[in-house]
Order: sequence, then C-alpha cells, then structure tokens
Amino acid sequence: MDQVKTGRFIAELRRSKKMTQAQLAERFGISDRAVSKWETGKSLPDASIMLELCDTLGITVNELLKGERVEMNDYVKIAEENLLEMRQREEQTARKMLTLELVIGFISVFCLLALISCAKYYETEPWVRGLLIGGGFVQFMIAMFFALKIETEAGYYKCPSCGKRYVPEFGRVVLAPHVNRTRYMTCPHCGKRGWHKKVISQTEE
Ligand SMILES: [Zn+2]
Repeated sequence: MDQVKTGRFIAELRRSKKMTQAQLAERFGISDRAVSKWETGKSLPDASIMLELCDTLGITVNELLKGERVEMNDYVKIAEENLLEMRQREEQTARKMLTLELVIGFISVFCLLALISCAKYYETEPWVRGLLIGGGFVQFMIAMFFALKIETEAGYYKCPSCGKRYVPEFGRVVLAPHVNRTRYMTCPHCGKRGWHKKVISQTEE
C-alpha cells in the first residue's frame, strides 16, 4: 500500500467535490491538520471513519487503500476470461493426451503381434524366439502402463448418481471393469458404484 498515493487520491477527490480541507474535517469532527496529514501521506484515516469518508468521496475502501479507481466490472471480467482460457487449455491438453493414448495402444499392439509373428514363422534358435515374445510382452506392459496413466489423469470421470466429476486413483482405473473409456467404479463423493463416463471438461459437457 502506498500512503502517499492514497493521500493524493483523497486530495484529488476532495477538490473534485469542491470541498476545502476544513470542510471535510468539519464533516468528521476532526481537525483540518488531520486531513492535511492524510493528503500528504503522513497518516491514514482512522478505521472508525474510513467507511464514511469513502462514502463521502464516492469510492470503496479498496480504492482508497489502492489510491486509485478500480474498475470492478473489468476486474471480474478479466478474472473470468483468464479462468475460461485456463479451462480451455486444460481441455485441449486432455484431448491431445487421450489421442496419444490411442496411438500408443495401437503401436504397442502392432509391435506385440509383429514380434510374436516373427517368433512363430522364422526359423531361429529357441532363445531368440523367447526373447522376441518376451520383449513383445514387456513393451506391451510398459505401453499399457503409460496408456492407463493417461486414461486416469486426462479429463475426469463423471458419477451418474451425484453428477460430480473427479480424477480417480491410478490403481482403481487399472482394476475397474470398462467398456471403452467408461469404467465401473465407486464414486469418491457419494460412495455409489456405477458406470462412470470419461468427460473432458471439469464443469459442463
Ligand atoms: Zn457420486
């Protein structure tokens, strides 16, 4: 807080109301020296008269303390715009991640089938076959881990009973029966079991 700025602001508002320091002081039953002290930034108005002073000057306490006009409508608007932009960015990322999950899944399944086919159709040593099949499954497990990690963290699950949206624990997603991205889980809010649909947005569909 800038006391000098507040002081200048008080002086400016007083003049615009065509009042002298003495007139303003009289209204609050204080000395004009006190008013002079506010306006030079040597002191702040007492809390006991602050509300009434702001009323007289036609400003809010926030504005008095800030030493300038605050456009409240703009403030709210800007805050809302920022929030909306953040949500949109989050949703965009979630969509990209869920697409990436599908890509990882397809590539991994393709690799697994390719490696098994190699092991089956090419004449090689048994240990090479074992390595091909083993490698195929290991890469598949790693890919599944990342895919399920994305499945858990991108977007939200929506409970059909209470309508709340949430991000579940990784283990629950892994163990839950599912059809596509819809999973049979227990809602952490209402405790009811049901088919929870994957949704992108935290607030609305
Ligand atoms: Zn619920």
